[in-house]
Amino acid sequence: MSDNNQCRQCGTCCRKGGPALHQEDASLLTEGVIQLQDLCTFRAGELVRDTSNESVVPLPEEIVKIAAPAGARPDEWTCRFLMENNKCFIHDKHPAECRALFCDDPKALLSMHGKERLDRKAILELLHAPQWLIDTVEAHEARCNYAALIELASHLEEQEEARRALVEVVEYDRAFRDLVAEKGNVNREMMNFLFGRPLMQTVIMFGIDARTNADGSVTLVQTTKATLKR
Ligand code: SF4
Repeated sequence: MSDNNQCRQCGTCCRKGGPALHQEDASLLTEGVIQLQDLCTFRAGELVRDTSNESVVPLPEEIVKIAAPAGARPDEWTCRFLMENNKCFIHDKHPAECRALFCDDPKALLSMHGKERLDRKAILELLHAPQWLIDTVEAHEARCNYAALIELASHLEEQEEARRALVEVVEYDRAFRDLVAEKGNVNREMMNFLFGRPLMQTVIMFGIDARTNADGSVTLVQTTKATLKR
């Protein structure tokens, strides 16, 4: 293989988002190379940009990815394992998608799209997490799933009831995380894996800014009208 056909390790793809995890990455989790606080879940139905027509479309199924560094801005996607010298901190053990990716020829990566991914339940079972934690993830999903949120968001302009219901879900999501951290003694850095990104952040996808009031309640302010596809 000529040098032109090899990864130059420029770090560009690592700055466009960490890899999604697949079944062949299981040993990285069981060996502790990647820990739950290194992960972020993008939940089914979460809106992502479709670059083919510049609309936002719901994810067909959840994806668990390597997260951005702790404390990164919500729009910061650089993989947390990319070091300042452009090297990968876990290079000799990096995930399958990183091994497949060659930015000049993304065919190998594209062929993995949607195949044998690890979701939250598979990861928690792999790590022998207690059943109550798996049940907690399912309970959160039942109340805060994106299919219901998209439905509410599409009626915000004409229905005050939809606005109230959406505020309730955003507040529920925030309180749920606090409860699991405090009562379940779960590391807060694991919340973005367990429950996806906070709805306080992600409702911006619906063209809504979620603001915390002085009394701790939430106000939703419509900013732009998102293009919602169901
Ligand atoms: S795990 Fe390593 S190679 Fe893969 S995206 Fe992150 S920094 Fe890049």
